[in-house]
Amino acid sequence: MRALRRINVHPVLSGALRPLGQLARNLRWAWHAETQELFRAVDPQLWESTGRDPLGLLAQVDPARLQVLAEDRRFVRAVAQREADLNEYLSADLWFQRHAAENPDAPSAIGYFSAEFGVSEVLPQYSGGLGILAGDHLKAASDLGVPIIGVGLLYRHGYFRQSLNAEGWQQERYPLLDPNAMPLTLLTEDGVPVTIEVPLHGRTLHAQIWVAQVGRIPLLMMDSDLEVNAEADRAVTDRLYGGGADHRLAQEVLLGIGGVRALRAWCRISGQAEPEVYHCNEGHAGFLGLERIREQMAAGRDFDTAVELTRAGNVFTTHTPVPAGIDRFDTAMVQHQFADFAPLPLERVLALGAEDYAGGDPSRFNMAVMGFRLGQRANGVSELHGEVSREMFSPLWPGFDDAEVPIGSITNGVHHLTWVHPALLRLLELPAGEEEMGVDGYDWDALERVEADTIWSMKRRMRADLVTMARERLAVSATQRGMAGHTDWISRALDPGVLTLGFARRGASYKRLTLMLRDPERLIRLLNHPTTPIQIVVAGKAHPADDTGKALIQQMVRFADREDVRERLVFLPDYDIAMARPLYPGCDVWMNNPLRPFEACGTSGMKAALNGAANLSIRDGWWDEWSDPRCGWDIPSAEDVTDPDQRDAIEAETLYSIIENQIVPRFYDRDVSGVPQGWVRLIRDTISVLGPKVLASRMVRDYVTELYDPAAASARSLGAGDASVELATWKRGVRGAWPQVKVLHAESLTGESVQVGSTLAFVALVQLGDLGPDDVEVQLITGDLHGDDELHGVASSPFSSVSDAGDGTWRYQVELQAVRTGARGYTVRVVPRHDRLAVAAELGLAALPG
Ligand SMILES: *Cc1c(COP(=O)(O)O)cnc(C)c1O
Repeated sequence: MRALRRINVHPVLSGALRPLGQLARNLRWAWHAETQELFRAVDPQLWESTGRDPLGLLAQVDPARLQVLAEDRRFVRAVAQREADLNEYLSADLWFQRHAAENPDAPSAIGYFSAEFGVSEVLPQYSGGLGILAGDHLKAASDLGVPIIGVGLLYRHGYFRQSLNAEGWQQERYPLLDPNAMPLTLLTEDGVPVTIEVPLHGRTLHAQIWVAQVGRIPLLMMDSDLEVNAEADRAVTDRLYGGGADHRLAQEVLLGIGGVRALRAWCRISGQAEPEVYHCNEGHAGFLGLERIREQMAAGRDFDTAVELTRAGNVFTTHTPVPAGIDRFDTAMVQHQFADFAPLPLERVLALGAEDYAGGDPSRFNMAVMGFRLGQRANGVSELHGEVSREMFSPLWPGFDDAEVPIGSITNGVHHLTWVHPALLRLLELPAGEEEMGVDGYDWDALERVEADTIWSMKRRMRADLVTMARERLAVSATQRGMAGHTDWISRALDPGVLTLGFARRGASYKRLTLMLRDPERLIRLLNHPTTPIQIVVAGKAHPADDTGKALIQQMVRFADREDVRERLVFLPDYDIAMARPLYPGCDVWMNNPLRPFEACGTSGMKAALNGAANLSIRDGWWDEWSDPRCGWDIPSAEDVTDPDQRDAIEAETLYSIIENQIVPRFYDRDVSGVPQGWVRLIRDTISVLGPKVLASRMVRDYVTELYDPAAASARSLGAGDASVELATWKRGVRGAWPQVKVLHAESLTGESVQVGSTLAFVALVQLGDLGPDDVEVQLITGDLHGDDELHGVASSPFSSVSDAGDGTWRYQVELQAVRTGARGYTVRVVPRHDRLAVAAELGLAALPG
């Protein structure tokens, strides 16, 4: 019989055990080993069988066991200690409080919007890297005391769970999640659930708000599964990245517009400060900008002024250089959705996401483009990705060099307390009272003082944990695939003493899951070498609609099914946080072979590195920046080879030969006591060189100082008096007058051949029409010439003196030292100038000669 309704019966936690409830409901346990130990002690078997879920454990634990524990003085004392520790963690002055005391620009609060959050396996609301990153962002913000409020959706089925059929084809399941069984609290006011409403294609969509407490950070998750909604609308928050474009648009309307409304409700009810900064993590949440404009207009501002007020505090992060990964809608759909989003003028809304630039598609509404237009500050997620994004989006800023495109970069990071193996974390710990000596409480050089054989036996234990996890999962998978009768090989699968390589990531084709299968015989020789074998653990999900990705997985699974391979190469279904945690520490080498430059950052290699695994990677994403021969190996990218098959062949050849000639010999080169001194060196170096760099705490501090503080300062000063009206009026005037702006004439007064060190003088005659010299900067742009007349490596310097040449024309002059030899070129450019522009390129307006 099917149940009609579900009722959750919670245990009575009374007296000394009462704090267990709070400890289970605050997700800080997910990165606090001592709190996890406390829950394990409640019932070790149940702890494992519930998948290490404190709420699940408390819901199922035998009341008699609780009775025993309530009388166990050591346990009761441990509960009290954990409770005191949590309360101290929640109220202490941390890094941000010290930072804010010295930096008056620091924001009161930051709203962090994301379509997915991967905080813990007990809250499966993520599909992959983007969500894990958002989860790590919240956790690191919590550890640093940064006042972030997370905003997302609560998907009743989360992302799919992956299994395989007998043929190795990916199967998807969407188990129903019960919010009452997850660490979530419904937002209520006077005992009544709070709901928000958003207009959806002329109807009203209602949503309730669940709050997850991620350490100090509240995470608001909107849920449309309410009886007041029409059946179809209840399904808006059914699945992450499920359904078609309509479904996704509805989700994004709820996330962006509903998200701001949920945030307002939460701030009002909790009495907490409203955010001054709004961080849009990827384009999905971009409609938050429209809602903020609407709020400003409702308060009496005109559209342009409202845009300025919104932009000043908005930060936009783009996460992919893969064109298909950019979120775009049919303009007609967006038009229909926002037809009466009064008082916003529809044509202005549509213009925000319009691809009205060279190479754009006029039928598309582009969420990334809107993100840039409504965010005064924007970034990519590694240095290389910043560069690629500046080039990719440069048509939005015509007249500017790629290097001037206002997209910066902050390299992603990972949350060490979540991802580092507990045994290793203990070795890196600083003595009490000396935490300030290290980076974020840990001494990343600590392994220098640990004996090599201690490190080596710890690594063997990490591999053994991985082997245990892998065999359990292989057994489950064999049953699902109808192979239960032939599983004795599983007890021989993988070996904790063998060189272990890991490869786990989404099945997106640019990640090239199957590159390692390019020469199967060569791989098999490596796997089955009689004295120096390797073993490989592979995992990853393909998007349910991506048959190409599923075919790649099937190819991998079929290979792993071979009798001569299966004990050394395994594919583990259902890659998620629970699998990932033992996976990274268990690997000696983490493999990454994307098509450069499509891996915007990648974070799995960072998690591996923090656990002492070497990276074997194409120089893409973060590895392009921090690649270091002490920490791994580069696979040179053959991106100049245009034939994709040829490129794969070249890169696969290097992959094999590095494994054969460098990795295997180093791993199996042992001293008399069986320790590979050279490999232990690599473990120590990887942790000390990369450790402090790849931390999510480093990333969050960078966001605070480089983006959140400046955004808060802009928002605050623009919000004062009439500054926003003045700026909007000025921009309107400049845009209107810009067609009149021209460089009429430019010349060098010092000839075409000069000696280095001599003074060069330039004059320019420009027409400014209705604008005056205060509205613009006239720049001399210089650069190298490489045979044609394109300027390379441009630098700009403002003309210093100006005189009125009558009739709206002005004569500019500048002198410059010739500091570089060689063929140099110059030109003259006029750009708008205003104190409130973050960069000269901001308006995308530039006048050049001709
Ligand atoms: C870290 C992680 C990812 C992201 O890895 P990439 O390197 O960005 O591909 C995806 N899924 C899980 C479960 C992870 O832990």
